[in-house]
Amino acid sequence: MKDIVIHECGLRDGLQAEARTVPTETKLGWIGALESSGVDIIQVGSFVHPEKVPQMADTDALFRTLTERGAGKAVFSGLVLNEKGLERGLACGVGMFCLGVSASETHSRKNTGMGTEEAQRRIIATAKRAVELGKRVQVSVQSAFGCGFEGRIPEERVLSIVKAYLEAGLTNISLADTAGHAYPEQVRRLFGALFELSSDIQCTCHFHDTYGLGMANVYAALEAGVTTFETAFGGLGGCPFTKVAAGNVPTEDVVHSLKRRGQCQGIDLGALIGLARDVSGHFGRELPGRVYKTGPLSY
Ligand code: ZN
Repeated sequence: MKDIVIHECGLRDGLQAEARTVPTETKLGWIGALESSGVDIIQVGSFVHPEKVPQMADTDALFRTLTERGAGKAVFSGLVLNEKGLERGLACGVGMFCLGVSASETHSRKNTGMGTEEAQRRIIATAKRAVELGKRVQVSVQSAFGCGFEGRIPEERVLSIVKAYLEAGLTNISLADTAGHAYPEQVRRLFGALFELSSDIQCTCHFHDTYGLGMANVYAALEAGVTTFETAFGGLGGCPFTKVAAGNVPTEDVVHSLKRRGQCQGIDLGALIGLARDVSGHFGRELPGRVYKTGPLSY
């Protein structure tokens, strides 16, 4: 069975919808918990304008602290929205650059102020520059399975962005269900189409649980051959630039469930459950995750 990679996005996707800014020290504590859990990639934040998303204002400072502290096993990723974001990320020691284009024209304009075509041109150029500098890069198609503003997103539009990535030599590709509209048959079909485009492609999936199909979509992606999963502790989150979106699939629920299949054996589920409890305590409310509340199966 193929090994699974967990890309933990709680600090970025989970927190960006929270109005109350989490102190940098608290974030560092949560990063430490994620590191000790053994997850592979930790998304630390996004290089968005601090006024647009105040929660992400300390992204550069977090990376600088992590870089000074020295490398552990986990890779620290950062979301970059434009050329300036790449420069900021290069200056503070980002380990993996995540860049994306929305397949929804409306979502793209609200999120970046650019239409899909312009965003695609600029993001590809920025991603190529990061690759030329020897950096690890992942590119994504956001709103790949539907959009809160536009509804259905034609699969051809998603595939045409993926083809442009592949033509630019960018093979690490994530399909993000930003609004949480995906359903399992669609997930199998779309990832199946991606794997047919190139044998070099490495696929990542990113699901939000808006309509309760997050975990079903994870399994559909697994069946299609996807091995990297973007998740968030406690299922925290929602996109501030998308109408109606719930949090990501909860990291601890995905890991709990994959462990039953013999996968994610190197990940300490107890550490993830402890973190989800801490985050829930910090915000003073219950989070959508299940396993941190019910407790894991012990056999
Ligand atoms: Zn998301």
